Amino acid sequence: KPATTSAASTPESYPLSHAPIESPVDTQNFLDNKFVESKATTWLDLYDPATNNLVTRVPQSTDEELKAAVDSAQKAFPAWRDTSLMTRQQIMFKYVALIRQNWDRLAASITLEQGKTLADAKGDVLRGLQVAETACGITTQMTGEVLEVAKDMETRSYKEPLGVVAAICPFNFPAMIPLWSIPIATVVGNTIVVKPSERDPGACMILAELAEKAGFPAGVINIIHGSAKTVDFILDEPRIKAVSFVGSNKAGEYIYSRASANGKRVQANLGAKNHAAVLPDCNKNHALNAITGAAFGAAGQRCMALSTCVMVGETKDWVPEIAERAKALKMNGGFEEDTDLGPVISPEAQKRIEGLIASAEEEGATILLDGRGQKPEKYPNGNWVGPTIIANVKPHMKCYKEEIFGPVLVCLNVATVDDAIELINANEYGNGTAIFTCSGATAGRFQREIEAGQVGINVPIPVPLPMFSFTGNKKSVAGGGANTFYGKPGLAFYTQQKTVTSLWRSEDAVASKASVNMPTHS
Ligand code: NAD
Repeated sequence: KPATTSAASTPESYPLSHAPIESPVDTQNFLDNKFVESKATTWLDLYDPATNNLVTRVPQSTDEELKAAVDSAQKAFPAWRDTSLMTRQQIMFKYVALIRQNWDRLAASITLEQGKTLADAKGDVLRGLQVAETACGITTQMTGEVLEVAKDMETRSYKEPLGVVAAICPFNFPAMIPLWSIPIATVVGNTIVVKPSERDPGACMILAELAEKAGFPAGVINIIHGSAKTVDFILDEPRIKAVSFVGSNKAGEYIYSRASANGKRVQANLGAKNHAAVLPDCNKNHALNAITGAAFGAAGQRCMALSTCVMVGETKDWVPEIAERAKALKMNGGFEEDTDLGPVISPEAQKRIEGLIASAEEEGATILLDGRGQKPEKYPNGNWVGPTIIANVKPHMKCYKEEIFGPVLVCLNVATVDDAIELINANEYGNGTAIFTCSGATAGRFQREIEAGQVGINVPIPVPLPMFSFTGNKKSVAGGGANTFYGKPGLAFYTQQKTVTSLWRSEDAVASKASVNMPTHS
């Protein structure tokens, strides 16, 4: 039996530095409201991306531990479902208060393990917290409908929890993305098993600790670790009714088909190639700043990073000015003041990004700003790629076709806004897009004709707030985007609809013979 402890392996506070950790502590599983040492025989080393110093080891949770997590969630479900909505709401109020109190600590964990700047990590936490805060108001959204469909007869609809659900998370938003699932899934009465990214589970472990403090009963939230093996367990475990996935197309398309084949509900947000169309009539200064921030913020490791610029007409001459602004950004350790962008997640990611830049050079594009080989003086061992701008890109080039997921902006030139719309719609991804223009008529046309699911008009990263939903389209979502995250569709995803039709007649039936015709109530 594994030793149990209620103390999390995640520190109460962080030194806010990238200094080597003297005795790194292993990441634990979170089962039945306890932090439990894993009996794993396989461990995944987790390094600070700014230094490549060891931060922790993440277990490949054992088969027994994976099963124990679902056993615990299954056992907790009936009592949690029967807990009154107002009680669940009170726990959610406490949870959001605790997340807010621990905001800095969560952000510090993200900077250490993921690499983004502390200010950006705070935004990561806040965007997730806002989903949790909105979930507190679920009481007004849980109501069903009722209609008297005939005399003495009525139909009512209910939203019921599904049971045990699971979330599989990516590395790039270690707090926000677990919080796309945990609050909505649990406040409506489900229990959840979360698998954070094995590359940065720290924030999720803090969220688990806070959930226990907020009063979630044991088993409502369990956390297990690992990579593909843990995912396969989730996909094949019959007691898990729904899977929420955010991550790459490679993993997500596989996860969508295997989980769907096993009869589960799946919501899956995948990769992206987000374009901005830049029109000559736009507010130029605003556009250039917005593009630079959205391309290079978080070192381009956002699914809504603005990675592709479509320069319409004379705006192609503005690309050197974007390069000037990009050059002014400061790359450094995420804890350092005034840092604009941190490292990329791993040496492998750095190599892949550099390879894509090299491929653009080989295919005849212009490397206007080259971030390869740059590194901040203080952190020579990190995974660094400086802001990079590739101009004169053509649609057949590898750097255009693949999601780069690094601080690289590719720029293509077209003659008209029609050409821009055609180019953007020809791309197989459809997560987000933006247009920079001062013409309402042009923006209106763009908005109607563009296929990407999230459109910004003079807004570079148009991620909707939690009262709406995250509405990617095309190859950026699996299953045609029917099950989007948070908002009304998020609530629908985590609940089963039930309708009840009842007849309460005071007098007995007049006819003595039963009717076998289809009841139409007409
Ligand atoms: P990833 O697909 O490598 O990993 C995501 C999760 O899947 C992890 O928990 C990982 O353990 C698991 N996984 C990885 N490979 C697997 C495999 N072969 N089989 C089973 N499970 C596997 O993604 P990542 O690198 O962590 O995240 C970056 C990607 O996520 C980018 O493509 C980005 O665009 C995408 N993303 C999309 C959104 C969105 O909302 N559309 C948001 C954030 C990130």
